[in-house]
Amino acid sequence: MSKFINEKTAKLTPYVPGEQPQDKKYVKLNTNESPFPPSAFAVKFATEESLRSELYPDPEYNSLVSVAAEKFGLKKENLLFTNGSDEALNYAFAAYCSGRKAVFADITYGFYRVFADLYSSETKIIPLSEDFSVVPEDYFNAGGTVFIANPNAPTGKVLSIKEILSVVGSNPENVVVIDEAYIDFGGESVLPYVNDYENLIVVRTFSKSRSLAGARVGFAAANEKLIADLKTVKYSTNPYNMSRISAAMAVGALIDEDYFTANCKKVIENRAFTTEELKKIGFTVLDSKANFVFAKKDGLSGNAVYEGLKERGVLVRYFDKPRINDYVRITIGSKDDCVALISAAKSVVKESL
Ligand code: PMP
Repeated sequence: MSKFINEKTAKLTPYVPGEQPQDKKYVKLNTNESPFPPSAFAVKFATEESLRSELYPDPEYNSLVSVAAEKFGLKKENLLFTNGSDEALNYAFAAYCSGRKAVFADITYGFYRVFADLYSSETKIIPLSEDFSVVPEDYFNAGGTVFIANPNAPTGKVLSIKEILSVVGSNPENVVVIDEAYIDFGGESVLPYVNDYENLIVVRTFSKSRSLAGARVGFAAANEKLIADLKTVKYSTNPYNMSRISAAMAVGALIDEDYFTANCKKVIENRAFTTEELKKIGFTVLDSKANFVFAKKDGLSGNAVYEGLKERGVLVRYFDKPRINDYVRITIGSKDDCVALISAAKSVVKESL
């Protein structure tokens, strides 16, 4: 840290991305990426678009927004595309948390805490229940901007549309942000409801179910007024917030519905396989509707499982945090990845006996 940094920035604890070790090739199940390559359409459009890279992109990304509006049954004014969904969350924190409380769970996506600190937002932290469920009633009249990941991360547990809308409806004075990064793997989306509520923002990503983590594409969906708020932040920070190549890839990913559906189905099947096999060797596995599972093995710490798997060439994510340090989060990969994980997990368990 230099002597020039300001006091506030110096005190921040930044987000720590999942590791990307270069020492050898791992079965990489630690950052919830898709195991499948981008759609062939996405690759074709990216190649074509790259030839126009001397030009700035359309800052409104009209082509992409039109395709997305049609796909999701929304108006163009309901959508704002962003550089990954982290950027959509950043805009929401900037617009609604500076000077207001941010309300979120004790165990959820780690970036909420980082953004809250960045914008000097006070926080109201709501513990998950004993079984790691988000309890909707705990968020009624929350007294600040609410952020709920649904399915939640890293637990994978999901709330129903009815439960989510009960939170939105009971917070007329607060914006409620529903982060649906993992919704395509078995949850029910509240995207169709954005025009029914004054205060609902849905955040989505193309990093998981649409195989574009490397392209950095996400979006916020909400009524026109909320989108206008978020655009104020965008045009005050980075008007051309996505590259034209990424925007073109996003169009390709959106139109290739069959590929998307088939990949989600495979992840769901592989999740069932992984859950069952882990249970057979004594793991407790939470019921997940995401592209990962959260699992623990009695008698082994989360760190021991993480280290044991890493030694055997399989990377998973371990969080050294109260309540969850017995667990590891395991991304659902291809069938081969899942088979490799199970074989490594068997070996770790055997060694511990
Ligand atoms: N929300 C949640 C709950 C996540 O787990 C992630 C992935 N780290 C994100 C948002 C951000 O994803 P991205 O910026 O790649 O769209």
